[in-house]
Order: sequence, then C-alpha cells, then structure tokens
Amino acid sequence: MTDRASPRITVDRILHPASVAVFGASDDRSKWAGRIMYYLALHGYVGEVIPINPRRQIVQGKTCYARIADAPHVDVAIIAIPAPLVPATLRECADAGVGCCLIISSGFAEVGPEGAALQREISELSRRTGMRLVGPNCLGLINVLNGMALTSARVLEVERLHRGRIGFVTQSGAIMLSIFNRAHDVGIGFSHLVSVGNQADLDLADFFEHMIDDPATAVICLHVEGLRDGRRFLDLIRRARRAGKPVIALKTGRSELGEHAARSHTASLAGAYPVFEAACRDAGVVLVDDPDVMVLVANMLARFGAPTEGGIALLSPSGGINGIVADRLADANVPLAVLRPETRQSLCEVMLPTHLDNPVDLGARRQELGETNAVAARAVELVAADPGVNAIVIALTTSPNYEATSKALGAAAVASGKPCFTIMTPGSVADGVRAVLREIGCPYGDRIDDGVRMLAAYTRYVPTSRMARAPDAKPGRASLLDLRTGYLTEPDAKALLARYGIPVTRERVVRARDEAVAAAEAIGFPVALKAVTDKVVHKSDAGLVELALADPDALGRAWDKIRRRLAILDPPADTLLVQEMVSGGLELILGAKRDPGFGPVVMIGSGGILVELLRDVQLALAPIDPAEAEALLRGVKAWPLLEGYRGRGRLDISAVASALSRLSRLAVDLGSRLGEIDVNPLIVRTDGHGVVAADARAVIAPETQDQDL
Ligand code: ADP
Ligand code: MG
Repeated sequence: MTDRASPRITVDRILHPASVAVFGASDDRSKWAGRIMYYLALHGYVGEVIPINPRRQIVQGKTCYARIADAPHVDVAIIAIPAPLVPATLRECADAGVGCCLIISSGFAEVGPEGAALQREISELSRRTGMRLVGPNCLGLINVLNGMALTSARVLEVERLHRGRIGFVTQSGAIMLSIFNRAHDVGIGFSHLVSVGNQADLDLADFFEHMIDDPATAVICLHVEGLRDGRRFLDLIRRARRAGKPVIALKTGRSELGEHAARSHTASLAGAYPVFEAACRDAGVVLVDDPDVMVLVANMLARFGAPTEGGIALLSPSGGINGIVADRLADANVPLAVLRPETRQSLCEVMLPTHLDNPVDLGARRQELGETNAVAARAVELVAADPGVNAIVIALTTSPNYEATSKALGAAAVASGKPCFTIMTPGSVADGVRAVLREIGCPYGDRIDDGVRMLAAYTRYVPTSRMARAPDAKPGRASLLDLRTGYLTEPDAKALLARYGIPVTRERVVRARDEAVAAAEAIGFPVALKAVTDKVVHKSDAGLVELALADPDALGRAWDKIRRRLAILDPPADTLLVQEMVSGGLELILGAKRDPGFGPVVMIGSGGILVELLRDVQLALAPIDPAEAEALLRGVKAWPLLEGYRGRGRLDISAVASALSRLSRLAVDLGSRLGEIDVNPLIVRTDGHGVVAADARAVIAPETQDQDL
C-alpha cells in the first residue's frame, strides 16, 4: 500500500488522477467535504473517490477509511483542516505514497510570520518527500474534461459543466469561482480551472506550462498577482506563442493599492507592472484589466481564432445604440470597417439608399420588403461578406418579436463564419434572447463596456504568423560575416539595424537628380534629402540635411544646395539619400559601443540634435531583453513624454524597448567587431504605434582573435 518510491506525479496526473481522497468526508452537503464528494459524483468524475474519516464506515455509498494509510493508492488528496494540523496530515499522506495534496486550509504565509513558518514547513516536506502540493489557501481545481470538480463551492451546483478549450490559472480561488460562474451563465466552457493559492510547491507557472502542452487547451487565461520567477514566466509566454496558443493575462499590482492587495492576499511579492507589461507585449500576450473581459476575449479566440486585419461591422435595430457603441469603439481605438462600394451596392437590396454605412442601422430597411427578420438577416449576411470586415457586432435593444429577431440576426452572423459577438443592452426581459444566443452559439456580453473592452483586446491580438518579428529569432553572428570594416554611412548602418528587426525609414540611395525625383515619387512626398558621406559625422551641421521637401521643385532646389556643399569636400562626394519624412514624434538616441572592460554596452536617451546639450542617457550592459530595456528607459528624463505627458497619448514604449533590446543583441553578435553604433534619432511616433530609425551610423572594427571580449 505504501509506495514511498513512487515518482513525483506530473501536473497532468494531478488533473487526471485515477483516485481522489477526501479528508473529513461526510454525507452532509452543508459540510465542505460532503459537497466535494457530491460534486465529484454529480459531474461524473471518472476516477475512484476515497472518503477518509475515522468516524464513518460508508460515506455517500463509498467505503470510508479511518486513515490515509489504510486506503488504496491515492493520486490526489484534498484537505481543509485547521492550518496547525496540516503538517501532520501531510506527513501521513507522504508516508502513504499520496501523489499530491490539495490544501484548501488558509492560515499560512498570507497571515503573517507564524503562518509563513508553517508554510515553510510544508514546502520543505514536499521537497523532501516528493509529494506535490497545490495551495495552501486555494479553492481547488476543476477539470471539466473528466468531471473532476475539486472544490466545495456552490457554483458547481449546475446540471453540467460546459466543456471548452480555455484553461484558466489564478492565484485567487475566489476569482476562479466567480469567473467560472459568470462564464457558465453565458455558455462559455473551460478545459481546466486551477487556483494555486500560496504556491507552497506547485505554482502558476507549473500549470501554465502544462496548458501550453495540453492538447485540450487552446487559449490560456492567467490571473497573476506576483511572479516567483520572471525569467521562467518569460520563457513560458514565448513558448506559448511558438505553440500558437494565445495567452491572456490579468495582473494585479499596476497601482500601489492593487500591489498591496495582491501581496496581502497571496503573500507573494507583486512584480513591477511595467516590466511585466513589456515582457507580455513583446511576446504577444493579451493584457486585460478585468476578469470578465478576459474570459470573453478567451472565448472569441478559442471559438474563432485570431482576428484578421480589417475593421468591425456594427449592426443594430437601434441607431441610438449604434451611436453609443461606435463612439466607445472610437475611444478605444477599435476601427470600424469602411464598407466597400460592392457591399454598399448589394446592401441597397435591403436597406434604404441613405443608410448604407457602417454602423448599419437595421431600422432603416426598405419599407416595401416588410419588417421581416429575413431582411435584417440578409443585411448581416451582406455586410459580413465584405472582406474588410473582421468581426460582426450586433447590439441588441428590446424589440417586438424579440427572440425571433435576435435568432435571425445571430444565426446570420454565426453562419457567416466571421467572428461575431452580441452586445445585450436590456436586462431580464432579454433572458429568452440570451438562451437563444447560447443555443445558436453566438457569443454575447451583457454590457456595452464589456463588449467594447473585449473587442479592443480581441482585435489587437496578433497571431504568431503576423507578429512583426519574433524577438528570439535573431540572425546570429554568422549573418554578420559579410559586414564591411570601417565607417558605415547612414544607409549601410540602417541596413544592419534592419537585419535585427529595428524599423528604419524607407529610403533610396541616388546619384542623379532624375533618380532622386523618381525615388521621392516611389516613397511619397514629402521627403528628406541627405548626403551620404563618411567625411562628415554631423550632417546637419554641415548643411547636408534638407527636410520636408514637399514636391519635385523643392527637392530639386535641395539637390542643388547639397551638391554645392559636397563639391567642396575632398574628394567630392556624389551620393545622396532620399528618405521618407517621419512627421512629429519624440526623438530618442540609441547607441551601442564596446567597452574595453565590460564588452558591449547599450545606451538610450533623449535624442535629436540636442543630444549633447541634454546629456540625458542611461546605460546597460548588453544583451538586455525588452523588459530590461523598458526599465532602463524609465530612467530617461523624457520618460513622462513616452507615458503621455499632460494628457497627450501614451507612446509605443514596448516598440522602443524592443528596438533597444534588438540593438543590444546586434552589439553582442558583433563581438570584437563592435566599434560603435549610433541611432539618432529613433523617432517614436506620436500616434502611439511604433518607432523608426531616421538616422544611424556605425563603426565596425577589423576582425581580431579575441572574439569573446
Ligand atoms: P545628422 O547627421 O546631423 O545627425 P540626421 O539625419 O539625424 O543628421 O538629421 C538631423 C535631424 O533632422 C534629425 O535629428 C531629425 O530631427 C531630422 N530628421 C532627419 N531625418 C528625418 C526624417 N526622415 N524624418 C523626420 N525628421 C528627420
Ligand atoms: Mg542624426
């Protein structure tokens, strides 16, 4: 019976145990263990249930054992006894060869030093014996796939658990249960839900890792309070992305108060949010700030996959609701699709010619066709067929014939095959409609706010295939073998940056005036014109940069000016660069150089022509990852401008961090050939999307023997 040599059981086995022991088992469903036994039976748990209770022979029809040592082999035991009694019980379990104990009991690290000591004791016991622990201070876990509902919460008082492909891991059991309940109400199912509590042994990352490999889980939701090991988390979010599984994360600790609440709750230190955010953004994780929205987004991703590029089509029988939702979508920067002329043409079939725009007011149908639902459904179908439409959103108000109308609209949206979502604005009067939507499989949410936030997060999800450049797909040293030694002028230096995925301006090297005009036309006016020369380091000081040239005439005049100035160089230079103009934006400087003592170093700071004046830079040893790059960036005085100073929009901080991190990899890959690289300016676009290197230069040293320093 005792099997102390049993290997540490896997997370997979914990979610699919062959047997579950319930301590304190009871027939009384007002007791927690009574409910656990009942829910396991109710939801058809396929394994063996083993009651443990010295005062019973039979519990809920099953043979009860006085002590765990008397029971047959147990994979998972669930325990909710007072904290001081937990260590002794765990020892008995370990002696009996139990694979894993799930500890519901609270009174551990979350309550202060005494509890923390108790928690250290059980962590130590787990390490020593190999018996795994979930909790303490958790509310259990639910595996919907095998009916293993290991929690005593009354949210399990439902006829059946909805199966789905969403995995959910949280440090808060209470969140798990209310989320489960909410999702259940709108017909959203899960594969597994896990609350990890104080993480005395198994932690959030362990279950996250399992879900990445678990074929039953397609989308992973994480509610994170504090991370134990940021590096591992970073590895996992990258792994999930490589596996093509969207990850949606909600992290507390963005505010000081939130951080405090998180700490007192699970007794783990909440990490700095911006670092977490940058790491997540870089790995394509969807960040949300609300658990309901998290589940709605997860459901869209699980049900329809990643959104394509394009805009939303919004349809409602109420122009009033359309107006409100359209405004909210605009505030959230969620684009509405501009319907193609062909779509508008075909919409004439059912809509008044004055009402062919998105949002579509389904109230403005052609009168002669009658008020039939088929006509409205036809409008949905026609709009959904527009290739620029990436999701159908129907906003429902009350209407006569409510259920039939909603069914027709929802069914047309579902039949289109495009992602669809219904925003329900009425209350209980629409419960029948909600049932209809669940039945036909059209996702819905009960508030405009939830719908808009969900759409913002969903439409921003970028699938792996469309991620700009994988941060870990680096060219490596081999690709640098062809690099010329010496001074790299602007176009050559930028080509090098581009190899590492740092965005650069569109530009073309030219040698004749006609060529310059043709290049400008290809790039699009206005353009910048610059000299390409290794004789002058600061081109603008020497009058070799002409900006904002609006047309061929202006370009021609600039051409003459620069050529005159170049003629006095010895030998005269004859190459010029026509370049896109980047309008507005904040100018930063990025740099890399080789320090004789420390090797490659990167730098970031306030850029542009004032760089020497401002001397506002921060340094770090390379390589740095995007999270570290962002942390460095926070030390730059211009940081508030990036965050959105005085009501201005927040700029694309993660793009800056990504560029700096990429530059740091380039610096490392160059090894002893790194002399220096200057990117000045890197322009951070004011529209909040991306960065672009507008100027760069580099010095590449000759190959030497000492590759490693
Ligand atoms: P320098 O060799 O003097 O550093 P730059 O190419 O950096 O020459 O140009 C000088 C300044 O002109 C930059 O700091 C930037 O403010 C502006 N500038 C240069 N190129 C562009 C561009 N493509 N779009 C917008 N502004 C530019
Ligand atoms: Mg410059």
